Amino acid sequence: MDKVQSALEKKWDDLLNNLQRKMPSHSYTSWVLPLNIVDCNDFSIRISAPSRFHSEYIEMHFKDLIRSGVRDIFGKDLTLQIITDQNTRKTEILESGSSHISDRILQKEEHAEKENFQQTYYVEDRYSQLNSRYTFETFVEGPHNQFAKVASRAVSEAPGNTAFNPLLIYGGTGLGKTHLLQAIGHYARMQNPNRRVIYVSSEKFMIDFITAIRNNRLNEFGNLYRKADLLLVDDIQFLESREGTQEQFFHTFNDLYQRGKQIVITSDRTPKELKGVEERLISRFLSGLTVDIQPPDFESRIAILQKKATIDQLTIPPEVIEFVAQNITTNVRELEGAMTRIFAYSSLAHTDVTINLAKKVIKDMLGVRKTRHISIDIIQAAVSEFYKVTENELMSKGRKKEVALARQVIMFLSREISGMSLKTIGLRLGRRDHTTVMHACNVIGRKIRENKSFAKEIDAIKHQIDLASS
Ligand code: ADP
Ligand code: MG
Repeated sequence: MDKVQSALEKKWDDLLNNLQRKMPSHSYTSWVLPLNIVDCNDFSIRISAPSRFHSEYIEMHFKDLIRSGVRDIFGKDLTLQIITDQNTRKTEILESGSSHISDRILQKEEHAEKENFQQTYYVEDRYSQLNSRYTFETFVEGPHNQFAKVASRAVSEAPGNTAFNPLLIYGGTGLGKTHLLQAIGHYARMQNPNRRVIYVSSEKFMIDFITAIRNNRLNEFGNLYRKADLLLVDDIQFLESREGTQEQFFHTFNDLYQRGKQIVITSDRTPKELKGVEERLISRFLSGLTVDIQPPDFESRIAILQKKATIDQLTIPPEVIEFVAQNITTNVRELEGAMTRIFAYSSLAHTDVTINLAKKVIKDMLGVRKTRHISIDIIQAAVSEFYKVTENELMSKGRKKEVALARQVIMFLSREISGMSLKTIGLRLGRRDHTTVMHACNVIGRKIRENKSFAKEIDAIKHQIDLASS
């Protein structure tokens, strides 16, 4: 029995070490260190947390990480259960002595839990919680995010004193919303260290709200958020269909807004597309400024990769950067992930970072989605089919409206998808000058950003190209 116990403890130690390596030390100390292993069998592992709030927090933020640690240490996937050890604790105390003493101990523990709850706001949500990498300096600006960046900068320079209140930033996943949101916080703080900046995901806002209700501490909950000079709320779409939390958020929002405090919100879709969010909340969002972030164009993808290489002090051959930028097109997180993998692979295998290595890694990443070497022919075919123009018309000098548009779209997509040089594209399309190609890329890029139905057209064409090249 003792043997089993000590084997279990050994595994637990290994797991703790594993997790410590993978997370920031303050998170490890606050959240993981207080955990304990309860038991474990071939299929599952039970871990206890000191309070219900603590176990919920673990569920929300660290469960995947712990799961992967378990996989590393136990060599397989186990079902992970996080339990609260207050019940166990209660029986233990009751068994061990007079109920009078045990009541006192429990009261003390409850008090500690509430303290812990209150600290969460100060320690976790405030400035200290911001990722130090997410600043304006490390944020690469391009046509896809320029407007969002400019608005964010303006807000961070004069929180509450611009016409952009609230500022709502929306865009697909992995496109830099959180990065920008936190950059606002950093900058506002840098300008004035006394500014109270609160960064919170709407998910965390909800958990705190529920915990506050349970602990009868709604007032404190409200007061803490209302102390903000700058409230940064990430991923508001999480509040869809959560009426209670929306209601609470509405009050917090109004209170801050009326006192001239700045609010910045991110969402993965436009306010109008948020289903199950009350109309009055949406109209509040729309009363400020809404800006979007689009997927980065080819040049911006290259710039982002180069920036990351500089920050991480990595040396990467330009053709590898180009190859990654050609193949990962819709998500900056994946773009960065590809680079990290390529480096991990090269250092594990003691090989140089070459285009062949990059091909292998990206092929693994994309799985069934093949790496792409999309030729201008495929692009041309898809575009002419879509706009019903013939190849002769495209190559001609004619300036008929549809033909000119189709030609410009081909130029844009050749640049965007395959990253071909302006010169090559020009030569392939009836010997046109590279400045003509550049002009076309700018015109189409702008039109996509300004005209939603045109953007949809381009998406449809891209889809056809994907089908044709897979
Ligand atoms: P989102 O919140 O929109 O899902 P994130 O802000 O988490 O996306 O961005 C994902 C990753 O991509 C982060 O590591 C972020 O630093 C990086 N990233 C996104 N956009 C840019 C950019 N324009 N310049 C530099 N890094 C970026
Ligand atoms: Mg995010």
